[in-house]
Amino acid sequence: MIAYLDHNATSPLRPEARAAMLAAMDETGNPSSPHGPGRAARATVERARRAVAAAFDMPSDAIVFTSGGTEANHLALRGLGAAATLVSAVEHDSVLAAAPAAERIPVDGDGVVDLAWLERRLAEGGVGLVSVMLANNETGVIEPLAEVVRLAHAAGALVHTDATQAAGRLPVSFADLDVEMMTVSAHKLGGPPGVGALLIQEGLPLRPLLRGGRQENGLRAGTENVPAIAGFAAAAAAAADGDDGRIAALRDRLEAGLRAAVPTVRIFAAGADRLPNTVSAAMPGVSAETQVMALDLAGVAVSAGSACSSGKVRASHVLDAMGVEAAVARAAIRISLGWNSTADDVDRCVAAWAALAARAGGRARAA
Ligand code: PMP
Repeated sequence: MIAYLDHNATSPLRPEARAAMLAAMDETGNPSSPHGPGRAARATVERARRAVAAAFDMPSDAIVFTSGGTEANHLALRGLGAAATLVSAVEHDSVLAAAPAAERIPVDGDGVVDLAWLERRLAEGGVGLVSVMLANNETGVIEPLAEVVRLAHAAGALVHTDATQAAGRLPVSFADLDVEMMTVSAHKLGGPPGVGALLIQEGLPLRPLLRGGRQENGLRAGTENVPAIAGFAAAAAAAADGDDGRIAALRDRLEAGLRAAVPTVRIFAAGADRLPNTVSAAMPGVSAETQVMALDLAGVAVSAGSACSSGKVRASHVLDAMGVEAAVARAAIRISLGWNSTADDVDRCVAAWAALAARAGGRARAA
């Protein structure tokens, strides 16, 4: 059995999502067709839309289903044609790439956005959109969204938040956040990969990236992926309440184990407000690749920093923006728990990591 501790890369499919997908796969119709099978497929999509809206506490069901978080982020950042855009320096690559001209909001040593900088920049004027993630995929740090929204709205700017990693791990209320746009991706919360959504304020003058058919209220052309959308909704409903303390307790057990094994371990943003499931830690002197491979040989799956880019380990722009020295950043791994993680998974991870530290000897302890 593999101890799968890489939920921030992708989370295993929840049984509720699997069941909903299997049922939808036996439906034939195109949701745009007016006949019976088409209407049945349309009903499945609209039921899913209402379920996702309920899971994220939306007052409306103004949701654009997309092919995932990456597309939703592109729609948010390119669909308004807004004046100047500000994005945090620790955003996911899909946000940074969608808005290459955006100015970067700096972060402190924990990766939390610099609100004083933001306030000063907003006061200079001309900002149309601010995009700050709800929680970071590498460190789990939760950004002070309420403050970001207050400052942005006071300056007349709209707010987008990438909630891809927060959704399903924390209760997320679109209404309370008071943002204009929010990105969610199904596969991070136990739904299938390749489907996600942009949640929007009703009436937002968004323009589509993909044109053709009039699907998704004219905001996303292309026949809907009905089974994936049904699976997404079932997973979002199952995950809506976030962690009830079980995963946070496993995370604490994991961090205590890492500290006991290597007293010099660096746990990033340990003192900041963080997701209950994410640990970003460095074993000084031992490369992330070596750690990931050693854990893999022991049947434990974790990632080196951000694993989203085709198996390549690159320097992390998140740790860099936090001011972490390059040598320490190269030794950083990410361990992320989720809905099916167990104490046994955690203990196997700690044991394998401790064994590697013992083999690495002075190298691991000296740094
Ligand atoms: N935003 C964040 C914060 C993410 O972690 C990811 C996935 N790594 C994405 C966006 C992209 O989502 P998707 O894989 O669904 O395109």
